Amino acid sequence: MKIYRLSEEVINRIAAGEVVESPASLLKEVLENSVDAGAKRIAIWVEEGGERLIRVEDDGCGMDQEDLKLSVERHATSKIRSDEDLERLLTMGFRGEALAAIAAVSHLTICTSEGEEAYQLHVAGGKVGEVRSGVRNRGTTVEVRSLFFNVPARKKFCASKQSAPLVRMVETIALAHPEIAFSLVVDGKERLMLDVAKREERVAEILGPMPYCIEDENIWGRFADPAAAREQRRQQYLFINRRSLFSPLVSRAVKVGYGTRIAEDLHPSFVLFLTLDPEEIDVNVHPQKREVRFADEKRVFHQIVEATQNAFQPASLVFTSSLSFSPSALTLQAEDLPAKIAMPAMESKEVELPFIWDAYPLAVIDQFFLVHKERVLLVDLAAASARVLYEQISYPETRELQSLLWPLEWHAESEETVEELAQLGIECRLIGKRRLAIDALPSGISLADAQEFLLAWSECKRVDTAVCRYAQRKKRLYTNEEALSLWKQLEKCREPHHDPSGKRIWMPLESHQLARLLEE
Ligand code: ADP
Ligand code: MG
Repeated sequence: MKIYRLSEEVINRIAAGEVVESPASLLKEVLENSVDAGAKRIAIWVEEGGERLIRVEDDGCGMDQEDLKLSVERHATSKIRSDEDLERLLTMGFRGEALAAIAAVSHLTICTSEGEEAYQLHVAGGKVGEVRSGVRNRGTTVEVRSLFFNVPARKKFCASKQSAPLVRMVETIALAHPEIAFSLVVDGKERLMLDVAKREERVAEILGPMPYCIEDENIWGRFADPAAAREQRRQQYLFINRRSLFSPLVSRAVKVGYGTRIAEDLHPSFVLFLTLDPEEIDVNVHPQKREVRFADEKRVFHQIVEATQNAFQPASLVFTSSLSFSPSALTLQAEDLPAKIAMPAMESKEVELPFIWDAYPLAVIDQFFLVHKERVLLVDLAAASARVLYEQISYPETRELQSLLWPLEWHAESEETVEELAQLGIECRLIGKRRLAIDALPSGISLADAQEFLLAWSECKRVDTAVCRYAQRKKRLYTNEEALSLWKQLEKCREPHHDPSGKRIWMPLESHQLARLLEE
C-alpha cells in the first residue's frame, strides 16, 4: 500500500460536493451572489434540469479584474474578513466557497464589469484560464455548463432533467426579494416574469391568494385557506432575516395555530418572514445553510402559534400600531349613531358604544371614511370599493348578479367581447354586428355607473386596472351607513389591506400624525 497526497484539484472536487449538492443548490448560490451584489434585475436561463446550462445575469456591482480571478478560489470572499464577522452576518453567502466549488465540477464562465471594462474568465473542471476582456454592461453573468461532467456520482441529480427544483429555488429567492425583478426561461420557454413589486403582490403572484394575514413588529405572514391544505409541506416558506430556511419547529407551530381548521394529516400553506436578532439564531448548522436553530425555541414556537391564530381572527385585520382608543372613554350623541347600532331605551342621550369589537362610523369626508374599530381608522372608500368589486369579479363563487329591467346597450369590439364580459360576470348578448345588450351586472357595479366601468375595462382589458380606474372616477358620495356597509364588505375580502393596484386602503390614525396636521 502506498499513500498519495491528493491533488488540489481532487480536494476541491470533494469539497465541491458539499456546497454544490444539486443543480438547485448551485443556482441558489449563484442567485444569492447576485442579490449580495445589489442587483435590481436578475435573468435566469436553465436547460435540461441545469445539467446543460444554468446562466444567471445580473445588473449588480460587478467585479474588477483581480476580484474576478480571486472569486473562483476557495475561501476567497469579499464578505467576511475574520470569524467575528461570522457572528453578525448580513449578506447571504459567506464562505467564499461557492464559485470555487462550482468551477471544480463544471465548465464555468464568468463575465463581469463594474461599468467600464468587462472581463471574462473560464474555468473547466477546476482548471482556471486567463482573464480576457469581455463585453457587457455593469453587472455579472455566471454561466455553468456540463454540470458534474467529472463527478459521476452527482450526475444522477441531473439524470431526470427536472426543472421543478430550479423553478422553486428561483421562486423562493424571488419571494424574499420583491424589490428585484426576476425572469426565468426554462428550456427556451418563459416560466417566470416578475416585475419589482410589493411583498404582498409578489406572494400573490407566485403562490396565489393567501387570504389570512399577520403583520407585526417582527412577523409578516400570509396563510392559505385551510381548505387548500396539502399532504406535503412544499407550500411552506420560511424566511428569517430574508434568508430562506427550513424549521420543523416553525411548521409545527403554524399547524398548531391552524388548530382544528385542518385535518391531522394535512399541512397548511404559508409564507412567514421573521425578523430576529442574528444572535437568536444559528444558521451555520448545515452546509446548505438550510435548517435553522433558535436560541429560545419555546418563545419562537409560542409567538408563531399566536400569530397564526391571530391571522384567523374574524375580520383577519390585525392592528400593529400602539395607538389605543378606549371605547368607554368615547361617548357619542344618540342621534349621531345609525339606528341599527344605537342602544334602544337609553334614558340619557349619551350612550356608551355597545360592542368594542364592532365597527362604528365616525365621519365621511369626500372619499375618506373615519371608522372606529378598536381604534380610529382612516379608510379610502374609492380604494375599498375597488377591492370589493375586484374580489366579486375574481371569485365567481362570491359574485352576486343584479338583473337589469331594461337591457343596457354597449358597443362590441368583436364577438369575443361577449365572452370577455361574461368572465367579469356581465351577462350580455350580441344584437347586431357591433352592439351588445347587457342583461345583468355584478352587484358591485351600479346601473348608473355601468358605462363608466365598461369604458375603464375597454381601455385596459385588465380587471385590476379597470376596477381601480372605475372606483376613482365614479367617486360617489357615501352616507355614514353606506360607508360602514362598504367597510364590512371589505372586512370579508381575502385581501382587505390593499386595492388591486397595491395601494393601501386603510390605516390606523396615530395621535402623532394628528399632531403633525396641526403643525402644518
Ligand atoms: P461568497 O459569496 O461566500 O463570498 P462565492 O464563491 O459565492 O463566495 O463568491 C466569491 C466572491 O465573488 C464574492 O465574495 C463576491 O465578491 C464575488 N462575486 C460572486 N458573484 C458575484 C456577482 N454576481 N456580482 C459581483 N460579485 C460577485
Ligand atoms: Mg456566494
